[in-house]
Amino acid sequence: MRAYVEVDLGAIAANIRAVKARTDSEILAVVKADAYGHGLIPVAKAALNAGASWLGVALLEEAITLRESGVTAPTIAWLTPLGEDFETAIKSGIDLSASSTSLLEAVLAAGKNVGTKPRLHIEVDTGMHRGGVLEEWSDFVEYASLHKEEFELIGYWSHFARADEPGESYNQLQLDEFSRKLDSLIAAGLSPQIIHFANSAAALTLPAAHRSMIRLGIAMYGLSPDITTMGSSLDLGLQPAMSVYAKLHLVKSVKKGDPIGYGGVGVAAADTTLGIVVMGYSDGLPRSSTPLAGVTHDGVRAPLIGRVSMDQCVVDLGAQSVARAGDYVSVISPAGYSADEWAQAANTINYEIVTRIATRVPRIYT
Ligand SMILES: *Cc1c(COP(=O)(O)O)cnc(C)c1O
Repeated sequence: MRAYVEVDLGAIAANIRAVKARTDSEILAVVKADAYGHGLIPVAKAALNAGASWLGVALLEEAITLRESGVTAPTIAWLTPLGEDFETAIKSGIDLSASSTSLLEAVLAAGKNVGTKPRLHIEVDTGMHRGGVLEEWSDFVEYASLHKEEFELIGYWSHFARADEPGESYNQLQLDEFSRKLDSLIAAGLSPQIIHFANSAAALTLPAAHRSMIRLGIAMYGLSPDITTMGSSLDLGLQPAMSVYAKLHLVKSVKKGDPIGYGGVGVAAADTTLGIVVMGYSDGLPRSSTPLAGVTHDGVRAPLIGRVSMDQCVVDLGAQSVARAGDYVSVISPAGYSADEWAQAANTINYEIVTRIATRVPRIYT
């Protein structure tokens, strides 16, 4: 293999247990986007074994893949635009989110067609101004109340915009709005069985948001929601689950001043040894990465030099390097560069670094 991703399912289990020790709420494992690049099915199964009782995905097809793989745990798909195959969702026992009256209408119509009451979670917009019912709330409640015999009301939920900023007053504002709208729902005779609001950041820092279930994403993968406001994985007692390795295609010597790669953007600062790594932006390494990221060979850090190419990148192994063509280097690993360092080098967040590692890079599970 010229490159591979190694996923430590034991780390995922440990992270779930670590969070579980800090809450009485049920845990929904968020496995959208191929489990943040870690692999949908193995991660879902490991999460359920470790004590998660629910699964959450964005897309309906992700939930269907779970069902086709024999996963029967309660599963919600929360990003299902009008026109999706709601009948298949209902027949597959997949929970759907109702985030507008027209979506609710469409799902109820599908339920009638298949003769099964859909299992629904009402999503309320409490201030993020992305998903959820906002200005049509009273009309929505009226409609839902009128049709309450046509669906099973499972959940009531919302999402935080700024939970990764502990102490931020906007979080309290969202919590208050969440409670107010829940009161009006109950007053209309609609009582959800499960209330869920917290993402990883709120699970770690905002106990008032835990309610009956937390939706655990990035922390389950062992990464901090925001290293600047919440500290590192280590600070949070989490173990990163993803490592990435790639082979050196070539090892070569260059002279001080030699330009490296497209545009000659990288220049050797001294006579040195270059490593040509068989991984590039088509594999998910951001082209915008600076030498703040790189690879590790035998414990020695080798920063990027020059632009990341489509299938390869070049690193500065140093004049004394003993690296040889065909050796593996670690791109992301516990002892080497972290997903957080890659994120910093590309001016993005660790979520994006792990999620974008392309599916053409095989996943191996330990
Ligand atoms: C992605 C997502 C989460 C998980 O967020 P993390 O910050 O990764 O914990 C929770 N809820 C919803 C609705 C999401 O889309």
